[in-house]
Amino acid sequence: MTENIQNKNQNEQKLKSLIDRLEHTRSLTREEWAFLIRERTPGAAGYLFERARESRIRHYGHAIYIRGLIEFTNYCKNDCYYCGIRRSNPNARRYRLSKEDILSCCKEGYELGFRTFVLQGGEDAYFTDERLAEIVSEIRAGWPDCAITLSVGERSRESYQKLFDAGADRYLLRHETYDPEHYARLHPPKLSARHRQACLWDLKEIGYQTGTGFMVGSPYQTPENLADDMLFLAELDPQMVGIGPFIPHHETPFSQYPAGTAELTLYMLGLIRLLLPKVLLPATTALGTISPDGREQGILAGANVVMPNLSPAGVREKYLLYDNKLCTGDEAAESLNSLKERMKAIGYRITACRGDSLNIRS
Ligand code: SAM
Repeated sequence: MTENIQNKNQNEQKLKSLIDRLEHTRSLTREEWAFLIRERTPGAAGYLFERARESRIRHYGHAIYIRGLIEFTNYCKNDCYYCGIRRSNPNARRYRLSKEDILSCCKEGYELGFRTFVLQGGEDAYFTDERLAEIVSEIRAGWPDCAITLSVGERSRESYQKLFDAGADRYLLRHETYDPEHYARLHPPKLSARHRQACLWDLKEIGYQTGTGFMVGSPYQTPENLADDMLFLAELDPQMVGIGPFIPHHETPFSQYPAGTAELTLYMLGLIRLLLPKVLLPATTALGTISPDGREQGILAGANVVMPNLSPAGVREKYLLYDNKLCTGDEAAESLNSLKERMKAIGYRITACRGDSLNIRS
């Protein structure tokens, strides 16, 4: 019994000293990452969150940046096994917004105080480079003080360049999981980890503020997979990282797999904050979906961004990536005041500025 307690104490000491080393050197081996993740304890997590909060406050104070999310199409040519808008889901109610719809979302968002618009969608062939570049340049002309973030999946380098030239500043493309074998268990053979990662390097080289990320608790994921994800983040050094728990969707091949947990997602947020102290790190919708105070917990674990939904109310429930995805209440951009109050209650303040990364071209 005493020996058991002693072992537990030793384990926790080791975890805390790895957390300290992470904070000071920002460099751990794969084995150390896997140990930190596999052997985590509530005590170590509490310690990690304290260190992560201090780090984010050092760089960003108590500011929370907001991004207005416009989910502009749920048509997708891909067939990711986890995703509710995958091509093979015949029951997804498909929609695509017109340019005018998108511009009116921006207008509404600007009036609400948003200074970043995130255009996210499935890989929809309708949105050719020409169509998408035209939308981006009209947003750029209409709201020159705003950042434009795109999140439309894998495209050619030329396409990314055209969209950048049209005025897009940022791009979000989660790598989903670094390990090619794990990637292959989540995606059909046409998609590869290697290609996804190559897109990220292209985006970075073009000059986008680049965001990547992964799902936590996706089927077959091991602590070693997450360790590889952390090593990839260290190598890519992105300006933004979006992570969220995997949540099953009832009409996908992964409908029967358990959801990732808020507990592990929060722990990974804390680790990412210490690895990349200046990163822009959202408390995501998926985290808010699996836990009613997921947003607040995410901020307290080191996150500093929230992304309320600016899509027209009529389409929000059709962008159903996973079951029970939040799209009303404080998830809705119109409820910004309520979100402000919730952030205020935990000592943070929503700010209406572009919120660029502090490590641009670091
Ligand atoms: N098509 C773009 C792309 O591939 O990056 C953007 C849209 S995609 C639907 C946005 C993100 O949703 C993905 O990167 C994935 O991590 C997340 N996602 C999809 N299905 C999910 C699920 N079942 N649970 C949690 N997150 C999911």
